[in-house]
Amino acid sequence: MKTYRDQIYESVVPLVAKLMDKKAARLGIQDLKYYDLALNFLSGNPTPKGDRAWQVENARMMYHDMHPETGKFFQMMIDENLMDLDSKPGKEGGGYCTFIADEKKPFIFANFNGTSHDVDVLTHEAGHAFQAYMSKDLMAPYRWPTLESAEIHSMSMEFLAWPYMETFFQEDTAKYKYTHLAGALSFLPYGVAVDEFQHGIYERPEMTPLERKKWWRDVEKKYLPFKDYEDNAFFERGGFWFRQGHIFSVPFYYIDYTLAQVVAFQYWVKHQETPHDALDSYVGLCGLGGSKSFTGLLASQGLDNPFDAGTVKRIAAPISAYLNGTDDSKL
Ligand SMILES: [Zn+2]
Repeated sequence: MKTYRDQIYESVVPLVAKLMDKKAARLGIQDLKYYDLALNFLSGNPTPKGDRAWQVENARMMYHDMHPETGKFFQMMIDENLMDLDSKPGKEGGGYCTFIADEKKPFIFANFNGTSHDVDVLTHEAGHAFQAYMSKDLMAPYRWPTLESAEIHSMSMEFLAWPYMETFFQEDTAKYKYTHLAGALSFLPYGVAVDEFQHGIYERPEMTPLERKKWWRDVEKKYLPFKDYEDNAFFERGGFWFRQGHIFSVPFYYIDYTLAQVVAFQYWVKHQETPHDALDSYVGLCGLGGSKSFTGLLASQGLDNPFDAGTVKRIAAPISAYLNGTDDSKL
């Protein structure tokens, strides 16, 4: 685990620090504070340019064009009413994909709100649903992958959908792509910081609450050096980790999101180089469900293992080239 975190520290932290400098320049803020970090553009966030029905129709055309299997899958989701997407009074919040075992069919639940999250439902949650659809005939314990692998399918689908994002975002497409890629890259240092923090507190259970907070702040300074808490004494003492519920409820799970992201980045690259091969490989991976381990699934598709030295550096290079090649001041 440490060698993986070290790769993120060496190859990703400097890139993210640079992204933050670019963001400061773009926003016209001299000295970026922690409360500025969530802001991306003074001109507003990218938004889909139509309502739910319009977005679903765009997604239908996208999945038919993408691959015969994704086309069959999404047509079934529409024809059999397997998506509940509209927000309405009294409806539970949030969004997720689940599997109706008796029917052997996935189901997507969401609350559309006119932001780019609507499109994420049609790519990310649909990626989960497509994996479940492709694995539906495997024996039940194999239908879902283990937790390190579970987000590969959803995060990869977000990238495989890139060529179609223009149909959703129109004039905001470049803005969407930049925020998507920069956001995914920027998450990696935070994700491994949460992991390093947990290793520390489990190795030294005798730490006092104050020492634990200091340890979090030390880890945060290492992986997120641009986080300036100004005069917020609570965060400066190391209180930010309290907001990460995974530390309390699913210890040591958090890093899995970053592992899946590093794999999804490989599909982003493959898809630009050889789109048909990338899609066939993705469809094949989805069909394997959880019948293999994380490393077994990677090996089945010739994907690089994030734990192997050099993997993160290799994947960071084209991402950095894309982000640096985009004039973000014009977005
Ligand atoms: Zn997911």
